[in-house]
Amino acid sequence: MAAHWKTFFGGFNLTFRHLTRTNVTISYPQEKRPKQPRQHGRHVLNRYEDGMEKCIGCELCAGVCPADCIHVRGLDNPADHPVSPGERYGYIYEINYLRCIHCDLCVEACPTQAITESKMFEFSFSNRADAIYTKAELVVDDMGMPQRLPWEDWRDGEEDMTSGWMRATSPSGSAAYEGVIQWSGDLGVGVRIPEAGQSDGRDDSATGSKQLRDVFSAHLLPEDVPASHRGVAGARRKLEAKMPPALKKRLLR
Ligand code: SF4
Ligand code: SF4
Repeated sequence: MAAHWKTFFGGFNLTFRHLTRTNVTISYPQEKRPKQPRQHGRHVLNRYEDGMEKCIGCELCAGVCPADCIHVRGLDNPADHPVSPGERYGYIYEINYLRCIHCDLCVEACPTQAITESKMFEFSFSNRADAIYTKAELVVDDMGMPQRLPWEDWRDGEEDMTSGWMRATSPSGSAAYEGVIQWSGDLGVGVRIPEAGQSDGRDDSATGSKQLRDVFSAHLLPEDVPASHRGVAGARRKLEAKMPPALKKRLLR
């Protein structure tokens, strides 16, 4: 009988708990949550501090792309007005976003850090041709920031940390490179310090990185932590998780 009443009121208990809990949803797209530091979005083609383009038209990015979505053609730099400091520059540069899987292999392959990814994923098209971004759209503006294209939903601050941040800072996984600046100067941004690695000496405030090695809940915004993982309920869950199964069964019966 007692178990019967417990089940009956347990249902109300659940309802009232959910009535009073903090909302975990937001009114997207009117409101947006901050994006993760290493989020992979649409690409940008970076420029040096003197305004020159970093792309040298080597086509390594196109060669490594598993989705075959990059089309690059290099051209010799005009002697009187070079576009890049190299022998050649990227004359044609196109990315087909109907194919791109945002794996960032192109970013890893690029020898000059010309191509990196912004965090922008909020864009859409109504025909196939529009899904192909051209160099005119991908190249950063005169401030070194991604262009805010009319069909993209940019908010203030979302273009921060887009250049140079989507690439591993330890080439070939060599720990010797961890924490060593690998980046050349960027237009409007200058030289950025390397993204934090896995060892000590991290500067998360300067890099915008979070402590990714910390426990799961430390990565989340307070409102992203489910009610059942907070406060007394959260402590109880943790305790239950540590209990031997036999003891848990007896106590929670
Ligand atoms: S992110 Fe991956 S799929 Fe997209 S263009 Fe680069 S290599 Fe290709
Ligand atoms: S973006 Fe980089 S890898 Fe691709 S063609 Fe330009 S320089 Fe070469």
